[in-house]
Amino acid sequence: TAVFSGCSKKNVKDTPDDTKETTSSVSNDVGLVGVAMPTKDLQRWNQDGTNMEAELKEAGYKVDLQYASNDIQTQVSQVENMISNGCELLVIASIDGDSLGTVLAQAKEAKIPVIAYDRLIMNSDAVTYYATFDNYMVGTKQGEYIKEALDLDNAAGPFNMEIFTGDPGDNNAKFFYSGAIDVLQPYIDAGKIVVPSEQIDFATVATANWATDAAQSRMENILSSYYSGGAKLDVVLCSNDSTALGVENALVANYTGEYPVITGQDCDIANVKNMIAGKQSMSIFKDTRTLATQVVSMVDAIMKGGEAPINDIKSYDNGTGIIPSYLCEPVFADASNYKELLIDSGYYTEDALK
Ligand code: BGC
Repeated sequence: TAVFSGCSKKNVKDTPDDTKETTSSVSNDVGLVGVAMPTKDLQRWNQDGTNMEAELKEAGYKVDLQYASNDIQTQVSQVENMISNGCELLVIASIDGDSLGTVLAQAKEAKIPVIAYDRLIMNSDAVTYYATFDNYMVGTKQGEYIKEALDLDNAAGPFNMEIFTGDPGDNNAKFFYSGAIDVLQPYIDAGKIVVPSEQIDFATVATANWATDAAQSRMENILSSYYSGGAKLDVVLCSNDSTALGVENALVANYTGEYPVITGQDCDIANVKNMIAGKQSMSIFKDTRTLATQVVSMVDAIMKGGEAPINDIKSYDNGTGIIPSYLCEPVFADASNYKELLIDSGYYTEDALK
């Protein structure tokens, strides 16, 4: 149902809600860049799309920006249309890293460079570059935070922990998970951290589509099965803010003990509000403006026939070899520094966080 073009049609009718805000271009006088984003449901992708579009236009490019309602087939169709409608370069934040191989073979055939945005696209040799925040570092920062908050090197414990990570089709989720677990595993092995639900391995703690309601219902089940007898929940490792929000919703309604340490990522508005209210301990700030600026400079270099700036040629193998990458640095955020990070930098207005 969502097959429609962005590049050459101005008024696209009957498009799903999530894809209505399409920016289309009618002529190919200047370079046309296709930007495929996963969903409008999560705040950050709206910001990523808006920033990319604005900065690409400022650099003189035309932009076809599409959102795919987290539907894999919709994203495949959107990318197909970008190719057939003359996009000269594709920037793609994939929904499922493994589902774009066939359509990207067409891009390669047409000599269209592809930049994987934020999430690596797997098993396709059409991927030219990858730009993201250092995903493993996101995880280690979450793990280090837990280690310090519980004073794991000195406290006797044991502390009860539960774990929520992201979508199994998102290559990032494995990096977030392993970054955090690599820090915490020694304490799990030593018995200082205990996971009462025994839900530990990646597949068991994954959250389809990173959905808040899925995390919420899993947390509700865990609370009623393992904590209803009064056991204390000390910490919840959440890979990002949408999963943390589900956990927080479940706790508010179903848990009366002392509030646990909870990690997150993205500094979504709802979660920053929760940090201010003491319902989330920390988040990771990934300034979408930084990533957009970086990707635009990569696009510009490629469109002018050169090579894109990169800073990593070892971390990201997509199954066809190492993809040259640019990794931006994620930043720790909590109630003590959010003003400086988020308001003083102009990322949010103070009113937005009220
Ligand atoms: C992104 C995170 C985001 C998550 C859910 C990941 O690929 O890196 O910032 O929270 O997807 O959309």
